[in-house]
Amino acid sequence: MARYTGPVCKLCRREGMKLYLKGERCYTEKCAYDRRPYAPGQHGRRRAKLTQYAIQLRAKQAVKRMYGILERQFRRYFEKAQKMKGDTRENLVQIVESRLDNVVYRLGFAVSRNQARQLVSHGHFLVNGVKVDIPSYLLRPGDVIEVKEKSRSIEPIKNAVEFNSSKEVAPWLEVDYDNFRGSYLRYPKLGEVRDLPVNVQDIIEFYSR
Ligand code: SF4
Repeated sequence: MARYTGPVCKLCRREGMKLYLKGERCYTEKCAYDRRPYAPGQHGRRRAKLTQYAIQLRAKQAVKRMYGILERQFRRYFEKAQKMKGDTRENLVQIVESRLDNVVYRLGFAVSRNQARQLVSHGHFLVNGVKVDIPSYLLRPGDVIEVKEKSRSIEPIKNAVEFNSSKEVAPWLEVDYDNFRGSYLRYPKLGEVRDLPVNVQDIIEFYSR
């Protein structure tokens, strides 16, 4: 399935929550969801009671869209999470959180996951000193992510650092903006990923049908 390239604000309105897909704009009064917090389309304002299936489907769609992951890959992540030891919910969250594009975004080197994906695929980042241009590359604790020296002055990265430098990074990460470097210290715990907009159990139940 091809990647969605349509208007992303529609996705937030469809899911009924802010997915923060547009970077700086999401934090301003221009946010389409803040202005029109109902589903797009002619019947968007109608409030239908959701079935259990619909709740689970929406949870899965929201997380997929938030992280920018396609269906096939997301299902693979679920299958991998199921095979791992421990809580499948936490395993799934740790897998999606370990993606290089997500970590670049969380470290503040991009203003959105979309932008992070593009910057990674254009080869602007090193992992442990080696160029990695695969956005879905899964990091492991101890990995060091660095902006390539030549890329430190490009506008998107400079602007993102300026925008994010006063914000705190997630507790499982560490960032050093002076040296354009960050570390993936450890896997996050389920409850620590506070901006996850759904109950992950609903996703597990969706795929376990
Ligand atoms: Fe979603 Fe951001 Fe658009 Fe608001 S501005 S609707 S949070 S993508």
